[in-house]
Amino acid sequence: MARNFSAQLHSSTYTLRNIRFAGPEGLRAVDMVVSDGHVDWMGRQGMRADLPDGPDLGQAIVWPLTVDCHTHLDKGLVVHRSPNPDGTFEGASQSAGADHVTYHCAEDIRRRAEFALKTAFAHGTAALRSHVDANPETFDRNFAVMCELAEDWRGRLDVQLCPFTGLFSGAEWFDTLAAAAAARPASGVLSIFVPPSGEFDSALDDVFNVAARHGVELDFHVDENLDPASCGLDAVARAALRHGFERPVLAGHCCALSVQPDDVVDATLDRVVEAGIGVVSLPLCNGYLMDRHAGRTPRQRGIAPVHEMRKRGIPVALASDNVRDGYHAYGDLDLPQLFREAVRMMHLDHPFEGWAATVTSTPADLLGLDQQGRLAVGQPADFMVFEARTWPEFLSRSSPPSVIVRGGEVAYAPLPDFAELDDLEGMKL
Ligand SMILES: [Zn+2]
Repeated sequence: MARNFSAQLHSSTYTLRNIRFAGPEGLRAVDMVVSDGHVDWMGRQGMRADLPDGPDLGQAIVWPLTVDCHTHLDKGLVVHRSPNPDGTFEGASQSAGADHVTYHCAEDIRRRAEFALKTAFAHGTAALRSHVDANPETFDRNFAVMCELAEDWRGRLDVQLCPFTGLFSGAEWFDTLAAAAAARPASGVLSIFVPPSGEFDSALDDVFNVAARHGVELDFHVDENLDPASCGLDAVARAALRHGFERPVLAGHCCALSVQPDDVVDATLDRVVEAGIGVVSLPLCNGYLMDRHAGRTPRQRGIAPVHEMRKRGIPVALASDNVRDGYHAYGDLDLPQLFREAVRMMHLDHPFEGWAATVTSTPADLLGLDQQGRLAVGQPADFMVFEARTWPEFLSRSSPPSVIVRGGEVAYAPLPDFAELDDLEGMKL
């Protein structure tokens, strides 16, 4: 396999020969010509002899840069100062709430979120969506900080922000948040947490009415539990159909479907297809929280039925969710690594075909991004090269990409040092 080829990528036009492109149809053996920062040509390997100079990559796997469509940058990276006491969902809510009350200020949020963006950028992320907790006392400040950060990063990493509140926080608050989302170029999305139970329909009617009035998209946390009676995804699909809602709707988690009878899951997924809803599964965060009981080995892993969804044509993405906070103590906004772990947990193999799109082109589609998460003629030459030629080789070594290219040029960006945030209040080890 070619190593140290990055020195050959400095001219404005070059060819990457003999690569394995990880596209929606699986690995394809291609040559790719890059010119003036864009993909100028891509075709079957060896079919053209007249291509510009460039390295032979010896069958190395090439990915488009990734799209992380579900994160929480405003509350991450606090695991040392505000650990989850027992690793449960309840413990997460308590520790995150206490962290918010004790430590959050504009500087604290901005520094942590910026660290997270630097991390995602270093791992080859092209775009991400972050929920932003919307507490009435602090939302204006926090949302303003996050929107400023999104503006600062425009052109390097596209950031979409969604005000995030609970389903039973009331139509008036939805209205305030949707107005804020509609007013910001980095937003345009309202995000709702649907609890395990309650009178969903009238509250969802308020959400969809407000979203239609302000022209915003919707994003839901649904069925983030293992109660077979939890029916958040179905309620959201029925509401979308009831309202004839035509803007994008994304539903995250969907863990409870893993413990429901097949006929119930089938009926829900049929409605999800009809409503045109996309799904994002958050396997690392769910694996951390679901079925956790002290001293008892977890039996259920809360994995959304992604195979059944994809078979029906439901767009399925994978994303980071919480990183190093009470909801998930680990993670580094590293989607290639998340994909490696998800393949093992969710059996995204036999065959592998197309599953890499869950962190590239599918989330780009779900976020309405047509320039990210894909490599095709005319698109920006944003890609990363791995020292692996096959999926088993890729899965077997947790190596970072050997080179990341943005706009046709090698873009070296180091991971930020963990100690960089030590001066924030409560952070010193
Ligand atoms: Zn989340």
